[in-house]
Amino acid sequence: MPNSIDSSALLYRVRVAVPVYLFDCFDYLLSQQQYEQAEVGARVAVSFGRQNLVGIIMQKLPLDEPLDPRFKLKNISELLDDRAIIDETVLNLLKWSAQYYQFPIGEVVHSALPTLLRQGKPYNLLARTWKLLDMNAESKVRRSEKQQDAYKVLKLHPVGTAENILNMAGIETATLKALAKKEICECVLEPQDFSPQVVQMAQMPLSANEEQKRAIAQVLKFKNKYQAFLLDGLTGSGKTEVYLQIMEQVLKQGKQVLVLVPEIGLTPQTISRFQSRFHCHIALLHSGLNDSKRLQAWQAAETGKASIVLGTRSAIYTPMPHLGLIILDEEHDLSFKQQEGFRYHARDVALYRAHLQQCPVVLGSATPSIDSFALVENGKMQSLELNQRAGSALMPKIHILDLKVAQKQHGISLLLIQEIQKRLERKEQVLVFLNRRGYAPVLICDSCGWQAQCPHCDANFTVHRQPYQHLHCHHCGTIHRMPEHCPSCNHTELKPLGMGTAKVEEHLNELFPDHDVIRVDRDSTSRVGSWQKIYDKIQKSEPAILLGTQMLAKGHHFPYVTLVAILDIDSGLLSVDFRATERTAQLIVQVSGRAGRGERKGDVYLQTLRPDHALLNTLVQENYRTFAKQTLKERQIAMMPPFRYAALIRCESKQQNLNTDFLQKHAALLRQYPDLALDIWGPIPAPMERKAGRYQSHMVLLSANRARLHYYLKDWWQNMLSDKPSTMKLTLDIDPQELS
Ligand code: ADP
Ligand code: ZN
Ligand code: ZN
Repeated sequence: MPNSIDSSALLYRVRVAVPVYLFDCFDYLLSQQQYEQAEVGARVAVSFGRQNLVGIIMQKLPLDEPLDPRFKLKNISELLDDRAIIDETVLNLLKWSAQYYQFPIGEVVHSALPTLLRQGKPYNLLARTWKLLDMNAESKVRRSEKQQDAYKVLKLHPVGTAENILNMAGIETATLKALAKKEICECVLEPQDFSPQVVQMAQMPLSANEEQKRAIAQVLKFKNKYQAFLLDGLTGSGKTEVYLQIMEQVLKQGKQVLVLVPEIGLTPQTISRFQSRFHCHIALLHSGLNDSKRLQAWQAAETGKASIVLGTRSAIYTPMPHLGLIILDEEHDLSFKQQEGFRYHARDVALYRAHLQQCPVVLGSATPSIDSFALVENGKMQSLELNQRAGSALMPKIHILDLKVAQKQHGISLLLIQEIQKRLERKEQVLVFLNRRGYAPVLICDSCGWQAQCPHCDANFTVHRQPYQHLHCHHCGTIHRMPEHCPSCNHTELKPLGMGTAKVEEHLNELFPDHDVIRVDRDSTSRVGSWQKIYDKIQKSEPAILLGTQMLAKGHHFPYVTLVAILDIDSGLLSVDFRATERTAQLIVQVSGRAGRGERKGDVYLQTLRPDHALLNTLVQENYRTFAKQTLKERQIAMMPPFRYAALIRCESKQQNLNTDFLQKHAALLRQYPDLALDIWGPIPAPMERKAGRYQSHMVLLSANRARLHYYLKDWWQNMLSDKPSTMKLTLDIDPQELS
């Protein structure tokens, strides 16, 4: 009877975070020997109900801690690690996150582990290592450059090289396999080497300009204590150089650096900028990795072997024993906020982690979030400004084109077409921006005005022509055949209305038949490696038109682009979301920032039906910083975030009145608390009320006092969850970034 307890015996117990949607940790029994061996932060296998799960030890209970007689404790099934694999700081960070975002601790802790460790796989996995078999295989190696490169590298290290290192040096596994087929090399499994490597400079730093020097020196004053910085520098002002020079000093102390970038910012170009500066192990953590590569990168960070960890959002929870600096680039980017499940914001978590770790944290952007400006204003963050482009490049000039009066062809003003022509003749590149993929956003009947709508959402179908003609709902993924006639009046003239990138591509090909049009959007880059190919083309100094969605807007360095054309951002000027103008301004400035980064000055042409809009005028006549200061004032007057703290409750079910009744009932319960000091908005239907056949409602809580908001929220929210019908989906979004 392993589960019976002798009341006179000593009780060896651990408190375990188990991956289930419950807010508590659970206690388990273990033997004295296991108890002595067990470390907080190690994995254990446990049974929970009828499931076998992998949990993390959060606490070793003192032997004299009284036993709660209501619970019958089970034994743990197995100790999976003989040491902590999540260190104390990250464990505290996870606990804080679970509390702050009101999400079950077991799920939060689990999300910080790579999949293989979540599944209970042993920690010390063997690594794939490639060894040369034939030292004189020159004649067997094909003429392909890839195979020759791989052969050369293998020959340099006859004892063998780990596959991830080879991959990082640009040698693909497929190439190695091709060589193995010819018996030139072989793949063996060997224990991994986690010993730290000495960091060496691979390249000399650039000589920093005055502003860069000041920023670097200021951060380095805080090498071993907490301070948050906002590196507020124009596009192309050399923010990355500032990061690199700060990193150099921190790495020289033997410390690790964590660099977070937006999801689509982790391009080969970004990676190579870090690799070409430092000779050290760089662990890459992003969503495109397979399970074993992700585990290897995570282990390199956790053991201290990796000096630099470069990753997207979730990398913020990677254990790093010698962490000495956190950098978060493009801090305004929405991809730092997880939008489903455990909805954390990596920027806020980064600030808290730096605080726990007592190290500096640098948030950088050309268009900082209004939230960060607010932190600067109230002294919680130091601002470092870079007001000039690095090197000789100048800021581009923005020209507004009034679409109401302009002569147009295919929705593009004739003046803009001429300007594009001029640039191409000068052998320069042009970037055309339109944040709408597909062929056209609407299919309309010429005769009766019928529009093709998704049957499951309150939204129009988007027309797509590739790889075949079809209608696609961008909200729920439904795909329909193209109707041949109008279902309402039988008319056969159905017209695609408005422009998507695929339609603009057609027009540009027609207007500029002698030039390449390179389209970059989710449809054109969905195949693995296609982004790299596009990128290689862009880096060649040949005239071309790059056409794309916001994938093109972010952080990239396109040295030959001298003209940026923004075809349509009007929807962003009209949206109801209180952050819409902020996002639109960021998008305009970021896209504009792709122009004129080389030797020639850049121009930006922006088409709009609202040339008098205040936002556009502030950006053209003043700059982003002035816009941000104005927005901050407006938010203060309206008492909106960051001047109040918000929590958004999203409720989804098959019937709208079910949502409304449920939310109203719980709003009433909340109102019964004394001294509530918070506003309750709603329930109201979501901006898109019906999505994928289900109705969405919102309720927003707003309070000027964060502690108070969280105090009331906790019990109320957990009570609400246990009260909800099983067919209803309910989520809580703390500090929501989007009200949709
Ligand atoms: P940002 O990250 O602010 O957009 P980058 O770091 O990409 O800017 O810098 C833009 C360009 O300027 C890069 O080509 C970079 O090598 C160059 N650069 C940065 N700092 C200097 C400097 N101090 N002297 C000369 N060139 C620089
Ligand atoms: Zn019709
Ligand atoms: Zn739909």
